[in-house]
Amino acid sequence: MKVLQERSLAPFHTFGIEVTAERIIVVESAQDLVAIWQDEQYRALPKLIVGQGSNLLFCENYAGVIVLNRITGIDITETADEYLLHVGAGEDWHQLVLSSVENNMPGLENLALIPGCVGSSPIQNIGAYGVELKDVCQYVDAVELNTGKPSRILASDCQFGYRDSIFKHALKNTHAIVAVGLKLPKAWRPNISYGLLAQFASETVTAKEIFDEVCRIRQQKLPDPAVLGNAGSFFKNPVVDKTKREQLMAVYPSMPSYEMADGSFKLAAGWLIDQCGLKGYQVGGAKVHEQQALVLVNHAQAIARDVLVLARDVVFTVEEKFAVTLEHEVRFMAAEKETKLAEVMS
Ligand SMILES: Cc1cc2nc3c(=O)[nH]c(=O)nc-3n(C[C@H](O)[C@H](O)[C@H](O)COP(=O)(O)OP(=O)(O)OC[C@H]3O[C@@H](n4cnc5c(N)ncnc54)[C@H](O)[C@@H]3O)c2cc1C
Repeated sequence: MKVLQERSLAPFHTFGIEVTAERIIVVESAQDLVAIWQDEQYRALPKLIVGQGSNLLFCENYAGVIVLNRITGIDITETADEYLLHVGAGEDWHQLVLSSVENNMPGLENLALIPGCVGSSPIQNIGAYGVELKDVCQYVDAVELNTGKPSRILASDCQFGYRDSIFKHALKNTHAIVAVGLKLPKAWRPNISYGLLAQFASETVTAKEIFDEVCRIRQQKLPDPAVLGNAGSFFKNPVVDKTKREQLMAVYPSMPSYEMADGSFKLAAGWLIDQCGLKGYQVGGAKVHEQQALVLVNHAQAIARDVLVLARDVVFTVEEKFAVTLEHEVRFMAAEKETKLAEVMS
């Protein structure tokens, strides 16, 4: 394990906001992780595991230890019907998707170009273009931080939901994810149900074609965090009941919505924000992206406060117009623990 001398967190989260931590430590094994939680010198300090920081907003300087997860290693086995991938939590998600497609193990192609580490992927059950991690996850290997006890949590016990899992609830802060098991059926069936992917014919399309198309659309639509700091979709798509959706449709007949399995409806947060005329709206160095209203960007050396005020204004404006409350998908970190927009701005 390596204790970094620098304390700036700007290179370690995709928003690129200039904040510091007391310590930054790189871990390469589950043992390293547990050793930090058991080390006397760190015992009283708050600790936060970070992958690539692509789903994080640091609201202020972090008064504790940032633990950068760099546990690597990929083991591939196969049965007659499936490829089974056991992947270290610190592996890069997109590189995994790319190498699996290139090595003729299709199944992850719809999830191309999602930034972050493999170990973070179950936490919010990453999803894009009609596929979610839960569709390919077999298990998650975790370690209990205070005791070092390892455990394997089967996908069926991960409580996967829309941008949600047990790792945001019962196992939050107590367990670290050290590896993820993925199961890719050899009898591959393309998922081309979503948007522009519907142009393909399911009998002839290849995983590589889907991968390339997903990358093309994403590169066109989303700002590259290496160029313009951001954390992807800032808000979740709100879910409303049938009555609320009907009320809104009566006023906004072109409003996009998707029916969920339980009969509720998911609305498009980006569309709601766009309808409020907020594209390009700016607070200090933070801005609602000009092309993609769901993304807030660090446009010119934003400070955390700029992003917070901008997010508050967006939530307020959407609430005023549609009586729908947006929740942020991005995880907010205060000096010692996780927080929420409503708490920070109260
Ligand atoms: C341009 C862009 C596009 C995006 N597109 C999508 C998308 O299409 N779909 C989607 O679902 N998401 C998307 N995201 C969000 C992000 O990519 C995912 O949430 C990703 O899984 C975060 O990975 P990370 O390693 O950066 O996690 P981090 O941001 O480092 O961490 C996220 C949270 O997980 C915790 N954590 C991290 N690693 C561990 C671990 N090993 N054990 C326990 N806790 C841990 C952290 O403490 C933190 O609370 C996008 C982000 C960006 C910047």
